[in-house]
Amino acid sequence: MVTSCSKETTPGQPLVVILLGAPGSGKGTQAVELAKMFEIAHISTGDLFRENIKKETELGKKAKAFIEKGQLVPDELVFDMLFDRLSRPDCQKGYILDGFPRTKAQAKKLQEKLKGHAKILVFNLVVSDEEVIRRLSGRLTCKVCGKVFHKEFNPPKEENTCDACASELYQRPDDTQAVILERLAVYYKQTKPVEAYYRKVSFSTISMGQKDPKRSALSSKQKLKKQNNFS
Ligand code: ADP
Ligand code: ZN
Repeated sequence: MVTSCSKETTPGQPLVVILLGAPGSGKGTQAVELAKMFEIAHISTGDLFRENIKKETELGKKAKAFIEKGQLVPDELVFDMLFDRLSRPDCQKGYILDGFPRTKAQAKKLQEKLKGHAKILVFNLVVSDEEVIRRLSGRLTCKVCGKVFHKEFNPPKEENTCDACASELYQRPDDTQAVILERLAVYYKQTKPVEAYYRKVSFSTISMGQKDPKRSALSSKQKLKKQNNFS
């Protein structure tokens, strides 16, 4: 399902695409396709945290404990990191937010920042809990480029090796059964209400089935064009 789309838009404004959906609903995969299609930056808060953890920054050290338990990182850590990233030149034309906002407070903060200054599209990816568990428990992620594979459904050509950059694949520490269940619980409690928030600030809805990522991205762009919300 795709929920879109701000009506008051001015030409030349940056495009901000917001992806909502449970962990494992395909936000990352969709984001890559949509970023190419709209020629805007792909900003994943999860990836930004993982970079900080890898580099052992102060922020990374603080965030790690929450991420490993499947809990959300506190807002003040998220905001500084994200808004700093959004101020870089590659975000000027617009960006796709993958993993943000994840709470109503985050959505409100973003709305304050963007109101009247951006063309906003909100995509809501819907998948069942069973599918989420199936996808995440078999997910393999590239250590270097972040590309994702699945042990059974989308295995790499060579075992444990990324098709795109030949680096090693790993299972994210939060992709284990217990942490996946906690992430799902956190999603229902804290992130699901964000959908209602966007409906309330008058966004219309278009639906999109679960297709392969390229076709999903394309069909959503065509639907937006038909509604004259996007040119
Ligand atoms: P997924 O969507 O597969 O759960 P992400 O890579 O988006 O994974 O996020 C991984 C973890 O990073 C989350 O479980 C959470 O702990 C933290 N995180 C990412 N984005 C946010 C956010 N906007 N607010 C709070 N925590 C976040
Ligand atoms: Zn790779």
